[in-house]
Amino acid sequence: AIINFGSINIDHVYQVDHFVQPGETLASSHYQQLLGGKGANQSIALAQAGGNVKHVGSINEHDASFKQALIKSGVDCRFLSCSDVPTGHAIIQVTPSGENAIVLFGGANQTISSKDVERALLDSRASDWVLTQNETSCIEEVLRSAKAKHLKVAFNPAPMSESVKQLPYECIDLLIVNETEAAAITGEPELDDIIAHFKANWQHAEVIITLGKQGVIMLRREQTIEVSAFSVDAVDTTAAGDTFIGYFLSAYAEHADARKALVRGCAASAISVTREGAAQSIPSQKEVDRFLAK
Ligand code: ADP
Repeated sequence: AIINFGSINIDHVYQVDHFVQPGETLASSHYQQLLGGKGANQSIALAQAGGNVKHVGSINEHDASFKQALIKSGVDCRFLSCSDVPTGHAIIQVTPSGENAIVLFGGANQTISSKDVERALLDSRASDWVLTQNETSCIEEVLRSAKAKHLKVAFNPAPMSESVKQLPYECIDLLIVNETEAAAITGEPELDDIIAHFKANWQHAEVIITLGKQGVIMLRREQTIEVSAFSVDAVDTTAAGDTFIGYFLSAYAEHADARKALVRGCAASAISVTREGAAQSIPSQKEVDRFLAK
């Protein structure tokens, strides 16, 4: 199984002519409420890919419908706890040109405790993976506890913050980063230098760097595997990384064929960028199979 300690957010998406200015009251022409959060997106992608995924997270007791949405996608929600803090949410303004401005409130995502971590890992098995991002509390505990139990640990430091640099990197077996996160972690702006830095300092781990429409690079012991992105007409790249991670990790956890898993991740994320939205842009396994058969 893959045990994902991750955020669950409610995305409140407002269409606006322009971003609201200081002191201005702006009417929105369209409003949508969507399930989001990197954690939830990755759990949905893992489940859609056929993975056995347990989501560990926290939402407000009044937002049970979001738990139902996760369960409907195939995510095991037995470790989801109820909080009296509001569910994490994002207030998202979107302009006609597709630009966005976001206010994020961590809410219940920040109430995950050591107890939750302990409870979720209690009956874990040696073959399990633990996955986490940078949108919940107790990340250090997750990394340390999972490592102490000899589970395989995947970490996606998104969204990137300074606090990531204080984490126990030695507990990580698989680091998945986009170019921005890779640059922040290594302190190197250029891709060649980023790769050299990881090769020199991250020998204990495998590292995947996603490169948007350039595809992906995986540094795996002595091996460097490059996989190109699929050429598609992108309309919205929200959750491309989350879709990639879910599809890659589900395949990798199952058969450990890195190249095959990378190709699956790239195919699924290529489909997701041709669609609007986050969770709802994640394709089904059938769609990915059909896309790869073309
Ligand atoms: P993030 O969304 O985390 O910033 P990336 O932008 O690197 O991550 O995208 C993750 C993966 O999604 C890429 O490795 C690639 O396979 C796929 N992808 C992203 N943008 C495109 C695109 N325009 N066309 C095709 N595939 C894409």
